[in-house]
Amino acid sequence: MRLSNLPLTTFKEVPADAEIASHQLMLRAGLIRQLASGLFTWMPIGLRALRKVEQIVREEMDRTGAVELLMPAVQPAELWQETGRWDKYGPLLLRMHDRKNREFCFGPTHEEVITDIARQELKSYKQLPVNYYQIQTKFRDELRPRFGLMRAREFVMKDAYSFHLDQDSLDETYTLMAEAYRAIFDRLGLPCKLVDADSGAIGGSRSCEFHVLADSGEDAIAYVDGEDFAMNVELAPAGIPDEERADPTQDMQKVATPDSRSIDQVCERLAIVPSQAVKTLLVEGDKDELIALVLRGDHSLNTVKTEKLAGVRQPLTLAGAEQIESALGAEPGFVGPVGTKIRVIADHSAAAAANFVCGANENGYHLTGANWGRDLPEPEQADLRNVVAGDHSPAGGVISIARGIEVGHIFQLGDTYSRSMNACVLDKDGREQPMLMGCYGIGVSRIVAAAVEQNHDEKGILWPPELAPFQVVLVALNTKKSAEVRSSAESLYEKLVQAGIEVLFDDRDARPGVKFADADLLGIPCQVVVGDRGLKNGIVEFRQRCSDDSRELELDGIVDFIATQIGGG
Ligand code: ATP
Ligand code: MG
Repeated sequence: MRLSNLPLTTFKEVPADAEIASHQLMLRAGLIRQLASGLFTWMPIGLRALRKVEQIVREEMDRTGAVELLMPAVQPAELWQETGRWDKYGPLLLRMHDRKNREFCFGPTHEEVITDIARQELKSYKQLPVNYYQIQTKFRDELRPRFGLMRAREFVMKDAYSFHLDQDSLDETYTLMAEAYRAIFDRLGLPCKLVDADSGAIGGSRSCEFHVLADSGEDAIAYVDGEDFAMNVELAPAGIPDEERADPTQDMQKVATPDSRSIDQVCERLAIVPSQAVKTLLVEGDKDELIALVLRGDHSLNTVKTEKLAGVRQPLTLAGAEQIESALGAEPGFVGPVGTKIRVIADHSAAAAANFVCGANENGYHLTGANWGRDLPEPEQADLRNVVAGDHSPAGGVISIARGIEVGHIFQLGDTYSRSMNACVLDKDGREQPMLMGCYGIGVSRIVAAAVEQNHDEKGILWPPELAPFQVVLVALNTKKSAEVRSSAESLYEKLVQAGIEVLFDDRDARPGVKFADADLLGIPCQVVVGDRGLKNGIVEFRQRCSDDSRELELDGIVDFIATQIGGG
């Protein structure tokens, strides 16, 4: 591809509304352009990286025996009504009408459509298992589209759906998919962590996410160095502390803490550390009553685990200030578990605290030296908190926390969809059985961003070779002045193309500084520079983007040299 054909616009400045490196670099390098919030155009060079990811995903899926199809992006409401998701899916679902006023949505996912296919196509156990996949555009009306392609509203996903007669067969395909995902991320040069995950609203039993670790990741991952254990913090269990609770040594006292509402403010005023205080959060129970959740001051509430507790309203609903005042007689910053009549659930670590500080249920006051069993009843205990770095893992070892970007997700759906949509096959005895389903997603467009997020420096992108939009960028210097540069670069370009090498030819009439800066920004792994001075001696310059090395090579042997560089890595 010739840059003079594109045209390419790059920016030196960091775009104002792009918060993370991948978003900034992809905009600066002209790989994507934003149309509206969460909607992006793939510009020609960016599109090539997307296609590379698609191709690797396709090859690895095909290798497992999965079969590709392509479903419509627009889906009729009736299908979603059959599974009850038309009402349940909420505002993420983009709904629309056709000219006859029939309702449709733009598919955020395709369980309904594929189950409809399966119930028409699959009649006998003999046809199973089947694993259908597609690479297709989804739309989700995300609450906060951000970070460019990472959390877009329209994005490209590979989604696969498998159908089985029994659990063993589902387990087998699930394992096969996990292996295929490993192979995909290995080929893409993206080190991934395999994370036990919450299957969220989708239901089903086993579920596993693939995360690329990066500081800008939206998910917190708990893992133990050198162990298989990795979990989304949303799910990771926080154990019961090993140490016994200390004995009460202080008397309980009420102290004035005007304007000190947050844990930090209270700690500063009373000169304590957050682990010596507890915080009390009020949530609604499922009978409209309030429930007090007590956590240590240095811990945070885990909504996923809490929401699963008996009697707690789903989805977890925090009480408003007015509800709190009328139940406990104080504003939210001054409430605590002492002397309340409502149900109190303490996190295991908060229940192990002694001589702690908590709100006094009186505006402007806190209690110090409070002790369970003496000043207030022993609490009901549960696991309410997010694990933190340094916690002991239930599987042994000490937990570390890192940020992760979810690039893939596999889960077993069981018969949820096949039952509600009546997708059955005849088994060996001629009896109708609902099929078991698995579903397997990969964020194809998100992967491109995740790769940039993991591979960049101050000059720009450093594409992993398998994803790079081009293998080589050919930079011709001062083409206007030198006919020799022009003709040598032209013929080198032709030869590289002939040799099957993917080459981007910077044949623009631009200053060398601009060309070098753009080549670095674009991050093509190999750079070949053709200039006047070198040519006089029959020499061109070869550089690798990932190192500062540059070497001079004979023009004659350059095509073979590049071919071996690319082939040999
Ligand atoms: P998330 O937790 O990030 O919102 P999800 O769990 O809702 O994602 P899945 O339904 O598991 O997403 O979709 C499969 C894959 O699609 C995800 O693993 C992710 O890589 C990708 N994906 C999901 N939402 C988006 C989005 N808004 N923009 C880009 N990629 C996305
Ligand atoms: Mg997911």
